[in-house]
Amino acid sequence: MHGGNSVADNKFVYFFGNEETEGKNSMKDLLGGKGANLAEMANLGIPVPPGFTITTEVCLLYLEKGVYPEEVIDQINNAVIKLEKVTGKKFGDTENPLLISVRSGARVSMPGMMDTVLNLGLNDDTVIGLSKKTGNDRFAYDSYRRFLTMFGDVVLDIEHEKFESALSAKKKTLGVIQDTELDASALKELAEQFKEIIRKETGTDFPQEPRKQLQMAIDAVFNSWNNQRAITYRRLNNIPGKWGTAVNVQSMVYGNMGETSGTGVAFTRDPATGDKRFFGEYLMNAQGEDVVAGIRTPEPISTLKDNLPEAYARLEAIYHKLEDHFRDMQDIEFTIEEGKLFMLQTRTGKRTAAAALKIAVDMVNEGLIDKRTAVTRVSPEQIDRLLHPTLDSQAEFEVLATGLPASPGAAVGKVVFTAEHAEEMAKANEKVILVRTETSPEDIGGMDAAQGILTVRGGMTSHAAVVARGMGKPCVAGCGSVTIDMASCAFSVSDVTINEGDYVTIDGSTGSLILGEVELVTPGVSGELDTLLSWADEIREMGVRTNADTPHDAQVARDFGAEGIGLCRTEHMFFGEDRIPAVREMILAEDTEVRKAALDKLLPMQKEDFIGLFKVMDGLPVTIRLLDPPLHEFLPKHEELADKLRSLEAEKGSDSEIERIKKIMERVDSMVEVNPMLGHRGCRLGITYPEIYEMQVRAIIEAACELKAGGMDIVPEIMIPLVSHVNELRSTKEDLVEVAESVMAEKNCKFDYLVGTMIELPRAALTADKIAEEAEFFSFGTNDLTQTTFGFSRDDAGKFLPVYIENSILPSDPFAVLDQEGVGELVKIGIEKGRSTRPDIKIGICGEHGGEPSSVKFGYNIGLNYVSCSPFRVPIARLAAAQAVIEKQDN
Ligand code: ADP
Ligand code: MG
Ligand code: MG
Repeated sequence: MHGGNSVADNKFVYFFGNEETEGKNSMKDLLGGKGANLAEMANLGIPVPPGFTITTEVCLLYLEKGVYPEEVIDQINNAVIKLEKVTGKKFGDTENPLLISVRSGARVSMPGMMDTVLNLGLNDDTVIGLSKKTGNDRFAYDSYRRFLTMFGDVVLDIEHEKFESALSAKKKTLGVIQDTELDASALKELAEQFKEIIRKETGTDFPQEPRKQLQMAIDAVFNSWNNQRAITYRRLNNIPGKWGTAVNVQSMVYGNMGETSGTGVAFTRDPATGDKRFFGEYLMNAQGEDVVAGIRTPEPISTLKDNLPEAYARLEAIYHKLEDHFRDMQDIEFTIEEGKLFMLQTRTGKRTAAAALKIAVDMVNEGLIDKRTAVTRVSPEQIDRLLHPTLDSQAEFEVLATGLPASPGAAVGKVVFTAEHAEEMAKANEKVILVRTETSPEDIGGMDAAQGILTVRGGMTSHAAVVARGMGKPCVAGCGSVTIDMASCAFSVSDVTINEGDYVTIDGSTGSLILGEVELVTPGVSGELDTLLSWADEIREMGVRTNADTPHDAQVARDFGAEGIGLCRTEHMFFGEDRIPAVREMILAEDTEVRKAALDKLLPMQKEDFIGLFKVMDGLPVTIRLLDPPLHEFLPKHEELADKLRSLEAEKGSDSEIERIKKIMERVDSMVEVNPMLGHRGCRLGITYPEIYEMQVRAIIEAACELKAGGMDIVPEIMIPLVSHVNELRSTKEDLVEVAESVMAEKNCKFDYLVGTMIELPRAALTADKIAEEAEFFSFGTNDLTQTTFGFSRDDAGKFLPVYIENSILPSDPFAVLDQEGVGELVKIGIEKGRSTRPDIKIGICGEHGGEPSSVKFGYNIGLNYVSCSPFRVPIARLAAAQAVIEKQDN
């Protein structure tokens, strides 16, 4: 049942703490994390108070049947006897009582589980024994009142506050501030009061019988596995209910025996920075949770060196030993009893992203771990955090509204409502946050000028989200509780109004909108990131390209390690101030001749675009997608024109101008589509207006010819969007090849280029074998493929997707995390069919999923050649691709 463990199947209790220790670190599933590591420390010869672990299996049996198997009770009784022998004390004895702690411990540490009960075994008689044995009356009653509180709170479910207020009242009466100032008789009186509270609250007396106490505490731990807090925590963290928790029963050591005793917690390295320095806190004359409870202010661990030099030296030796053994930063708990040190817990320490990176790289340099291990020690999400400014963790603020975490990082600025205004303010060196109902390609300039973007509508692949991620700018999208009132230049969230020019802060990693300026911290991207990613590159097998439309973005991506461009969206190039007039002329043209004339004006600009990109990528592959969006996106909006018309008429503008605007308006109205996402776009444009694609291909080939002449090696990859039937590709390709060949002949220049297609419609995936007859490469456009597979409009999904996710109808937003079961299946089919026709066809993915860790890993497992993602996600994809290889090898 438990592979590798040479134990009988009906062994339910494992002893730890001396040479008879039965467990070990690798038995976490059975013993829980705490129990397995206590056993491991004992195995290493580290002083651990002896005890035993009742397995997670017992938890499951007990929760299922409501009773313990007979053997379990026997094994617990035997373990108690063994514990008595080892410690020389007796459970329930009035001369030399054995006291124990009862501690929960699942495979992973789990807030929400039962808290620890300390000093169990005390009652009105044993407390006297403890007092006599130690000669320390105060200590004995301090332990008793602590036990009564914890047992009452944790096992009997009495509000902690009831005990706490009795304690406070007592201190007040006696005029003392610290618990430690209470003397024995005060503590004795408190114990009486606590028993009275228990009687009142539960209707029965506090159980004096130690074995009864133990049984009740064990039951309480197991039952806590299914309390609401634990269930919620498991759901949020994907922890299976069938794991169960173990129970650790451990002999007590006392940090509350006086001024040479104490208790503390520490990290073997700084968990915030990763610096190699011992980091922690402790309290003298204290027990258990006192350190974290905040009643007294704990001392920094460094002062322990002066207080108790011997114990400190031992602690230092132990933490080095633990790090060497576990080969990772440890989070440890210890207690000192009259100068003698005991370890009570060790586990892998939680750390910030910066610390994770530093520790991983340092440990390789120290020879503790290999590069492969280091690559698994940092999560792609942590890398993401390192690349963007975040809210200062010390800052206090209130979240006003929450939208989608559309592009990570935090930003502060003054609210503006239009792209033009954003650009003006930025020119005057003002920091702004652009707030829009939704953004459109016309807003690019303003988005670029803003520190961050907030939209009221739109999902994870809305225009705002995609563009912001491309720019590496924070974005909160779909913040539905925001209402913009353009007339008064303000927006509101319920009864709060924010005017243009007011400061707000947004956090695109969490989707929060915050009133006012919150302090930001910018994590420095260190040389360590380069080092770790270079190790990832040695391991990964899949290529990582970027989605970039400008030389600037392409350069950013190359600096982040991109190995080419997987998607250049040419439409962004059409929005430039210098181009949009020609673009509109082209669209409004009544006949082919006029259209061609307009396209001729665009040709040199488009050619310069490609030269810029090719130069930055310096011979790396560049995939250029021909024009994709419906043409009306480039035209002014109806309302805008109507406004203009009204003011022209009011000002008695020229008739010809009025006529011109009316004409444009007619044209705009005629181009309106009910469903533009499924409308006249992609290769459908190329087929109906072939001269547009012809111009683009001419620009690509001319650009390549020019650079070729300068000695640069370029293999352009021309990509046709939105193909659903091979005939669409065939006819478009024929036309384009003709153009390409004639340009090459004209320029007397010859080189290879590829023509391929996006696979972004279900029909394309299902007929990929046919499409591969023409396509020389595939790039899965998973944004559109998700949209068309689910039938979810990308721009409208914000209205229902959050509800879907809240109610677990979908596990996550399929526009952010690839739906492997459905959309992923189509990708798999597409790959298989494509390769059946053209075995060496190059296949990548260029949707937003190309930079999402779980989707990258999936892509590797189904055999993609590369992923392509926005520049700031390139490092994430590099790491995730390496982790995918390691995970596959380890499985
Ligand atoms: P948590 O999982 O909440 O950290 P623990 O089981 O680790 O709970 O217990 C919390 C604290 O209780 C420990 O850090 C330690 O200070 C104290 N404690 C637990 N068991 C013992 C023991 N046998 N002797 C002394 N102190 C103990
Ligand atoms: Mg602990
Ligand atoms: Mg698409």
